[in-house]
Amino acid sequence: MAATRRPGRNHLFVPGPTNIPDRVLRAMMVQSEDHRSVDFPSLTKPLFEDSKKVFGSTDGTIFLFPSSGTGIWESALCNTLARGDKVLSSRFGQFSHLWIDMAQRLGLDVIVQEEAWGTGANPQRIEEALRADTNHEIKAVMVVHNETATGVTSDIGAVRKAIDAAGHPALLFVDGVSSIGSLPFYADEWKVDAAIAGSQKGLMLPAGLGVACISPKGMQAAESQAGKNDRLAKVYFDYADQRKANPTGYFPYTPPLPLLYGLREALDCLFEEGLENVYHRHAVLGEATRQAVAAWGLKTCAKEPKWNSDTVTAIVVPEGVDAAKIIKHAYVRYNLALGAGLSEVAGKVFRIGHVGDLNELSLLGAIAGAEMSMLDNGIKVTPGSGVAAASSYLRENPLSKA
Ligand code: PLP
Repeated sequence: MAATRRPGRNHLFVPGPTNIPDRVLRAMMVQSEDHRSVDFPSLTKPLFEDSKKVFGSTDGTIFLFPSSGTGIWESALCNTLARGDKVLSSRFGQFSHLWIDMAQRLGLDVIVQEEAWGTGANPQRIEEALRADTNHEIKAVMVVHNETATGVTSDIGAVRKAIDAAGHPALLFVDGVSSIGSLPFYADEWKVDAAIAGSQKGLMLPAGLGVACISPKGMQAAESQAGKNDRLAKVYFDYADQRKANPTGYFPYTPPLPLLYGLREALDCLFEEGLENVYHRHAVLGEATRQAVAAWGLKTCAKEPKWNSDTVTAIVVPEGVDAAKIIKHAYVRYNLALGAGLSEVAGKVFRIGHVGDLNELSLLGAIAGAEMSMLDNGIKVTPGSGVAAASSYLRENPLSKA
C-alpha cells in the first residue's frame, strides 16, 4: 500500500511494469483450480500455440516459466550451452551488461564487444568476429533487441544477415523483454534460436511469467545436452521436464493460474487490435515522444535516429541537473512514475516508457508531467512546448492503420 494517498490515477510510465488493461485485471481474478484436472489443458494448450504469434514464429517451441525476464534468460543459456562454451555478446547498456554478467557467472566464456551506450549491436563487428572464428568455437551470439536502459533498438535482421554472411553455425539468442508484443519481432524470419520475453512489458501483465520461444535448432542444442558431463546445472529450468508435461497441457510443477488466465486475455487484446496495428501504435507514440524531446531542446540517449526505440525514450538532462530529482518530483507532486537512469546513465537521464496499453492522451499526460517536473527543477524548457509538438504529431498520425 502507498505510504501517502495520492489522489487520481497514478500515471505509470516506467518502461515496465506497464499498465494492465482492465479486462486483463478482471481475467486474473479467478478462484484457484486443480491444475491436473481434465479441464486445465483447454486453457493451457492454446496458450503454447498462440504465444508463438507475438514472437513471429510458427516453428518455435514455447516455454512458460513462473519467473521474471532474468529467469527466462537463464533458462535459455543453461539449457542450450555447456560449461566453458564461447558466446559472443555486445554490451551497450545495463541489460546487455547483466546478460553478459549472467553468462560469465554460469561459466560461459563471453567475448564482449563494447559499444557506446546510446548505440546498439554492430552487425559488421559481429560478422568480423565470427569470420575470425574459423574453428566455430563460438556457440551463440547474444543480443538485447531493445536496450531498455538507453532506449535503443538493435537491428536483429541485420545481425542474422551478419551471421549468415560469415557462414557461421552459432545460435542466435535475443532478449526481447522490452520489445516482444510491442515492436515488430520475426523469430522465424530472423532465425532466432532463443527469443525471450517477460510478462510485464508488451504483454501487459504483472511481472512473474517468463516466456521463451526456442527454434528447432535451439531445441536440438537443448536435446544434445542430455547426458553430457559439462552441461550447465539446472533443475527447475530444465526444458526436458517441461517437454514431458507441456504437450498435454500440464506443467511439471504448480503453474501460476491467474497469470495464465491473464496471458490468455492479454493475447486476445493484442490479436483483436492486430499485431501490425500494435507495432504501428508504438511507432507513432515513440515518435510523438521524440517530437516532444526535440521541442524541449533536449536530446535522447539514443545517439542516432536509427537506434530510436519505440517502447522507451531516455532523455538526457542538461549538465549539472540531477535527473533523479525530476523523477522523484514527478512522482511525489504529480503522481507520475518515470523511469530512472541506470548504472552509467544514472542521474543523467530519465525515461518515458511508452510500451503496452496506452494511447495518445495517456502519453500526453506523461509528457505534460515530465515538462512540469523539469520546469519545477529549473530546466528552462518552454512551457507547453513538448505537449504541443507531441499533440500536433498525434493529430496527424492516427494510432490505428485501419
Ligand atoms: N532485459 C531487458 C531488456 C529488460 O528491460 C529487463 C527488465 O527491465 C530484463 C531483461 C530483466 O527482466 P526482469 O526484471 O523481468 O527480470
